[in-house]
Amino acid sequence: MSFEWVKAFDAEHSVEANIVKGMLEHAGIHCHLRGEALQGALGEIPFTEASVSVWVYEIKLPAAREILLEYRQSKTSTQKWQCDSCKQWNPESFDLCWSCMKEHDEQA
Ligand SMILES: [Zn+2]
Repeated sequence: MSFEWVKAFDAEHSVEANIVKGMLEHAGIHCHLRGEALQGALGEIPFTEASVSVWVYEIKLPAAREILLEYRQSKTSTQKWQCDSCKQWNPESFDLCWSCMKEHDEQA
């Protein structure tokens, strides 16, 4: 069992870092943000923070990675397809509908 903090994600900016932080906390994963300007600073977080990373407890890293993988896929996939049966939208990278697990029909 380890309660060491480990870096789970490098964000492009503080807005993205806070999106990721929110996703992890929603999943019950405690996390915090670290950035160069944050070190030792208890005041306001600069909005233009250049380098922010998201840190989680080492024991939570596998769970965090799963969420981050989904986040990256949703971020990189511009193409989307709509499921025939439940009408949910899926990223192009998904072969099965995330909602009802129906296979994607390419002809649809
Ligand atoms: Zn579906």
